[in-house]
Amino acid sequence: MFSLEGAGRAAVDRHERTSLDPDDWQAVRGQAHRMLDDMLDHLQTLEEKPVWQYAPSSARKLFDAPLPIDASDLSDVHAIFRDTILPYGSGNIHPGFMGWVQGGGTVAGMLAEMLAAGLNANLGGRDHMPIEVERQIIRWTRQIFSFPETAGGIFLTGASQANFVALQIARCRKLGKDVRAAGLTDESRLVAYASSEVHGCVPRAFEMSGIGSNQLRRIAVNASGQIDVDALEKAVRRDLQEGYVPFMLIGSAGTVNTGAIDDLHGLRRIADVYDLHFHVDGALGALGILNEDLAPRFAGIETCDSLAFDFHKWGQVPYDAGFLLVRDNTWQLQTFASEASYLSRASTGLAGGDWWPCDYGPDLSRGFRALKTWFTLKTYGTKALGEAIGANCRLAQALADRVEREPALKLLAPVALNIVCFAYVGPNGDTPPAVNAHIVERLHAEGRVAPSLTHLNGQPAIRAAIVNHRTRLADIDALVQSVLTLGPRQDLAQC
Ligand SMILES: *Cc1c(COP(=O)(O)O)cnc(C)c1O
Repeated sequence: MFSLEGAGRAAVDRHERTSLDPDDWQAVRGQAHRMLDDMLDHLQTLEEKPVWQYAPSSARKLFDAPLPIDASDLSDVHAIFRDTILPYGSGNIHPGFMGWVQGGGTVAGMLAEMLAAGLNANLGGRDHMPIEVERQIIRWTRQIFSFPETAGGIFLTGASQANFVALQIARCRKLGKDVRAAGLTDESRLVAYASSEVHGCVPRAFEMSGIGSNQLRRIAVNASGQIDVDALEKAVRRDLQEGYVPFMLIGSAGTVNTGAIDDLHGLRRIADVYDLHFHVDGALGALGILNEDLAPRFAGIETCDSLAFDFHKWGQVPYDAGFLLVRDNTWQLQTFASEASYLSRASTGLAGGDWWPCDYGPDLSRGFRALKTWFTLKTYGTKALGEAIGANCRLAQALADRVEREPALKLLAPVALNIVCFAYVGPNGDTPPAVNAHIVERLHAEGRVAPSLTHLNGQPAIRAAIVNHRTRLADIDALVQSVLTLGPRQDLAQC
């Protein structure tokens, strides 16, 4: 054992200064301000840059470097970021980005993320103000979706996790808390229902849960992409006759392919008749309720038992910020709460507090996602966020109208919200469908607009998902113009 007395103590202090804080706080301040200005410059001049560009091998090579044993200057590290990461992002902050459903982020959200990192709060539990901020978001989401006071909620990485957690909750509701220890048995025979348009993360949740994706019945949709409620009811009855145990029904409030919203009141009725947990995947669409004109389309969402949605999509909160709202917070407790001694609660002090998120979801250590969400809601207000959502939908409608007016283009699905699927078919309608895949790749390389490619009824479709608050009519015009220019080019198939 060594003793820390006299000279020994001084030596330890001198040689073992292990704090990672700066020696020169003033210098760090200067550097910090430069980094902030640099990022604000980037956001202010987005339109002058390509939406996406291929990162050169010289940039990639810098990330195949030896493990840094020794220190570097913060300014040098930042220079690497500025030169090799910043210009080669995925582009979802850019107004020309329409590929996939991704939010654009905001300045307020970015600054909040920095503050949250400075505070380095762990939102697993205990008694501190960051917990109160998450509770504030729960109260606000209750209000947005007209959920009762008994409703609970929790931040998760994204809707994939929120859907998975909802599945765990539904399983516990059907089989009771004991299933946590006992697991599923041959007698469990659980089956669940969603439409054939359900997002891929839902069958994957069934795979991860051990229930298996075969036990998720995929029900046919109508021409508008909504689940066929009669077919659903028939499927439930057939399963009951065959001795299965229907336990969960998953509706979509904005399908990923076309933005279709299921008949949520119809699904609530089926859930009531057959005693199913009624979950809604509202990842991309649910926050559309913030827009007055769109709100009626989500009728019935207030009746669901749990709702997954993403603040990082239409909420424009920087990644990641998924959320699960649960009608009765005791369902969360029975699914997740545990009594580990190192998590024991005190009646007062830091180990106090009457709401520990670790009792309500699968994570123990959790970041402060609530802060960037709180800053976003508080700074912009739900009215402006709702207006941005409405503007996205009007742009989608404008694009659909343009497509319908152009003989060489064909609209492939009705536009329910903000997603437009179309194809280049040529002036005589006989261009091979495969050309659309080449058009999309070419558009990405050109860097003006970036839609994505999907398949509808087996046919390749150019898909524009308009989620970014920065997207304008000029971006829509550029998309149509570019597709019309690229479509007839014979060389595309070879590119
Ligand atoms: C994006 C999306 C998901 C997955 O959400 P993540 O936040 O990416 O995990 C699930 N469902 C729908 C309908 C989506 O659009």
